[in-house]
Amino acid sequence: MTESEDFYFRTMELPDELLVGAIDTHVHAGPVLASNPGHSDPIEIALEARAAGMRAIVYYDVFGGSSGTAWMVNRHVPGIATYGAYLMNSGHGGLNPRAIKTALHIEGGCRMISFGSHCTHHQASRESTVIDGKAVPLHEAYPKFAAEELSRAIRIPAEGAISDELAEILELVAARPEVYLNTGHVSHDEVFRIVELAEEYGIGKVLVSHPARGLLSVAEQKDLAARGVYLEGALVDIFATAVPLTHYYVERDYIDRGFEIPRTTRPVPTYMETLREVGPEHIVLGTDYGVRNLPTAVQGMRTWITLLLDYGFTVDQIRAMTADNPARMLGIDDDPEPARSRVAQYPEEP
Ligand SMILES: [Zn+2]
Repeated sequence: MTESEDFYFRTMELPDELLVGAIDTHVHAGPVLASNPGHSDPIEIALEARAAGMRAIVYYDVFGGSSGTAWMVNRHVPGIATYGAYLMNSGHGGLNPRAIKTALHIEGGCRMISFGSHCTHHQASRESTVIDGKAVPLHEAYPKFAAEELSRAIRIPAEGAISDELAEILELVAARPEVYLNTGHVSHDEVFRIVELAEEYGIGKVLVSHPARGLLSVAEQKDLAARGVYLEGALVDIFATAVPLTHYYVERDYIDRGFEIPRTTRPVPTYMETLREVGPEHIVLGTDYGVRNLPTAVQGMRTWITLLLDYGFTVDQIRAMTADNPARMLGIDDDPEPARSRVAQYPEEP
């Protein structure tokens, strides 16, 4: 299988064949807030992925770390590698070097440190409620949100000196070559500063998260790719429901309802064209699935692959984005015991 699918001979089976060996680098499998139940628990999704022949999954936990989840699943579900990550969100103090240090030492092998999702300044200033049929940013609708949440959100200075906390976090990540840095849901300018800082501090692997990638032009994405940066694509960008998905904050008023009102449209053909122009050799795909009102992450991965076939991507290009690049980013091939903790290699750190 090295060619594009023959238009006159398309099969039900090809997506399933391409699922074998695939890696979903962005899976939400709970636990989540009781107000926002997920679709599958971590073991259920690992079993489904293993049954489909998938190679690995990376768990995301918007509240902090998922290495403990990966640790438990790896102990009890052989035959598939699962990995954990840590997202710097406000629940753990945002830019908190101690939280990062702990995350890197938790059993289970943390493979990704992210600047966070809901609690970056960029994202927190955009999450919205709906008033009189219009999206209104939470910080405008609720002064308490502005005072208590937006004020705590993570901001990366576009230029100039960085805080001691950020410097320490970058040093911690640089000391772990198997770990990749995820930009998180930051702004356009912050993406470039993070990449610059990663180069300065000697961090080998950077992933531009999907919403941040969506803020970049094709030329900018190509420039970053030429610097060795991975660019994420998530199925949720093009295949999601226009209803509230994630409850990060426990307060009912703080549910992000902004996309009940169509804001930007990201037509599927345009999205696919961008992947093609940037170059599949630089793209890492994941589903970002896990909420109850979407299919399972494994079905999501099958849909991703099917859509790519529908848009004429070759089998090799699909493999690059769903298997080879993710494996490289995770360093699975260098890993004698996939998904096991590497903590023992790092008894002391800066
Ligand atoms: Zn996500």
